[in-house]
Order: sequence, then structure tokens, then C-alpha cells
Amino acid sequence: MPLINLKLHANVSELTLYLKCPRQVYYAYRNHKLAPEITPEYLEHMMLKELSLGYPDAIERTTDEKQNIHDELNIEMERVKAELELIYSTELRDLPLKVLETAENIVSEQIDSIAANLTESIRKHGREEIIQRIRPYRTEPVLHSDKLKMTGIPSAIIQYKERMVPLSIRTGKCPDSGVWGNDRIHIAAIAMLLEDNYEDSVEHGFVQYARHGNIRKVKIRPEDRRQVLKIRKRVDTIKEGILPERKEGPICKYCNFTKFCTTTKSSLASKLF
Ligand code: SF4
Repeated sequence: MPLINLKLHANVSELTLYLKCPRQVYYAYRNHKLAPEITPEYLEHMMLKELSLGYPDAIERTTDEKQNIHDELNIEMERVKAELELIYSTELRDLPLKVLETAENIVSEQIDSIAANLTESIRKHGREEIIQRIRPYRTEPVLHSDKLKMTGIPSAIIQYKERMVPLSIRTGKCPDSGVWGNDRIHIAAIAMLLEDNYEDSVEHGFVQYARHGNIRKVKIRPEDRRQVLKIRKRVDTIKEGILPERKEGPICKYCNFTKFCTTTKSSLASKLF
């Protein structure tokens, strides 16, 4: 597909951004994005994501005689420490050692609860099933669909019971049950892309909350698909130039776009820029 079409198609990350604040789609599309500051919190998210990609290996190395997944996760943590700066070489260039060490310590402290939750999932569903739910078939593949006018890069796709299924790795908090609404829409969007790419139906996906080691199965409902299409159309409109209403909320405090986001009215882009 020509690159120009990929650029024009809505990206699944824009749908997720829309759910946070529609205006962020507007500013991000107009290249107002500010480079994120590499804080220990930002690094913590990167590390958790890389660590979680090693959960299936850690589980696989445990046996009935040697059940200590905690030790295996510590081995994976050592891998992350050794590989992180190689994987994110641009983002982490000139990173102060102190920032790196702070993030490493925070993630290492999570390993107890990650081990406990993975052990509980294995007890409940069996080792093979858990490995199948989180073992990537491909990590971060670029998926696009002319039919959906959408592109997306999921954390991973997995081969689950002979089918390609989305796996979304989340590094934030985990809900008490099920998945967050935004994660449900994200999984549905990726599932729709997979259906078009692999010409097979996708009935569910998985969200892995890396910080806690929780793995949640998500059934994709017709309403989720409806929402994806509705939001994609809204994203298209925003990218064409409609500035959405300002959605004032606690999120504004941490938003990269506050210095641009001064008007409260929605309007045509041409009047503002
Ligand atoms: S400052 Fe608030 S309303 Fe404006 S883009 Fe950011 S989150 Fe949205």
C-alpha cells in the first residue's frame, strides 16, 4: 500500500487518543506533539512492556519440580536491563544513570505481585493455556485495511486455537475485573484489522496488564465494533480540520498540548491556524 494511504487512514492509536480527549487527536495530527520527557515513570512503562514479553518464556522454564516463577522473572528482568538501551537506542540516548536505576528499582519491586498473579492464572487455566494466551506470534506488526480505512500496530498478535488473535499489553493499572473500556475498543479495532488481513473471524482478544501479571480475555461484541466505526469517522472529521470541544478534566493537568489548547469552542482549523 502506498505510504500516503497509510498516513490518511485513521490509526488505532488515534482512536485510543480520541477516547482520552478528542482534541488530542487534533493537535497530535498537526504535529504539535512534544517529545515526551524520559522520566523514571516513562521508563517504567517501557521496562514493564519488555518484561511482559518475557512472561511466556519465564512460565515455560518452570516445571512441576521447579515452580519458582519469581526467579525466572528476575532472569527476564536482567534481560530487560541488558536490552532496553539497544531496543530504544534513540529515545534513551544520553539517559542519566540515576533515572534508569530508579525505574529498574520500581519495576523490580513489582515482580512479587506479577509472580503471584501469573501463578494464580496458571493454577486456574493451566500452563499451556496461559502460554498460548500471551506468546506473541508477531510483535508490533503493522496492520492496515482499505475497507476499514484504518491502520494499527498492536503490541502483538498471538496464534490462539489456530486463529490470529490480538494481544494488547498495558502497563497501567488493572481493573478489578474485565478490562477498561478503552482497552475493549482498542482490542475490537485490532480484531477488525486482523479479520481483514487474515480473512478469518476474530471473536476475542487478550489484554495483559503487565504491571500486575494479569491476563484478561475480552469477547468482542457487535457494539464494540459499532463504536470503533463511529470513533474512526469522528477521528477522520477531526483530521480534516474540525477542532472538537475542549474536554476540560483532570487529564488536562498532564496533557502535552495545554499551551495550544486555549480556546473553549469547537471550530474549523482554518480559522485557528
Ligand atoms: S488540555 Fe485538556 S482539553 Fe486540551 S487537548 Fe489536552 S486534555 Fe484535551
